[in-house]
Amino acid sequence: MTKDGKLFGSFTSNIREINLSKIKVVVIGGGIGGLTLARAYLDAGIEVELYEKRQLNEMLSGAGGIFIQRNAMRVYKLLWSGKIYERFYKQGGKICQGGFFNKKGKPLYINYPF
Ligand SMILES: Cc1cc2nc3c(=O)[nH]c(=O)nc-3n(C[C@H](O)[C@H](O)[C@H](O)COP(=O)(O)OP(=O)(O)OC[C@H]3O[C@@H](n4cnc5c(N)ncnc54)[C@H](O)[C@@H]3O)c2cc1C
Repeated sequence: MTKDGKLFGSFTSNIREINLSKIKVVVIGGGIGGLTLARAYLDAGIEVELYEKRQLNEMLSGAGGIFIQRNAMRVYKLLWSGKIYERFYKQGGKICQGGFFNKKGKPLYINYPF
């Protein structure tokens, strides 16, 4: 990307500049990947159109917790000035220790608190 917010396109052999305010991106799928991508485009000032085939009630049908891994948290720290990241921290619990065990319960790997 150039200093004035223009992106170099790489689909043609001739490198050309794309004016970000003039492009629109279509994202297919409103799962966490699609929503995160859409948020990143919006943060970059790019217009987004998002399509999701499921109905909202279908998407919200299962209650449960989710784990957000550290690599994903690093991405959320960059998005929306860190607001999503802060919200995860405020509303979520932090798992400090976990591990993998064999069938007999013998620890194979333990992740110690950091
Ligand atoms: C039971 C279960 C528990 C899980 N728990 C965790 C967890 O705790 N932590 C974790 O990190 N991961 C967890 N995962 C994995 C996690 O859910 C996936 O890695 C993640 O949802 C993938 O996100 P995604 O956006 O790539 O795909 P998806 O979440 O699958 O989203 C893709 C979306 O695209 C839509 N779509 C597909 N085709 C079209 C189309 N043609 N037009 C329009 N829309 C379309 C689908 O309806 C869907 O909503 C879990 C998975 C399962 C099944």
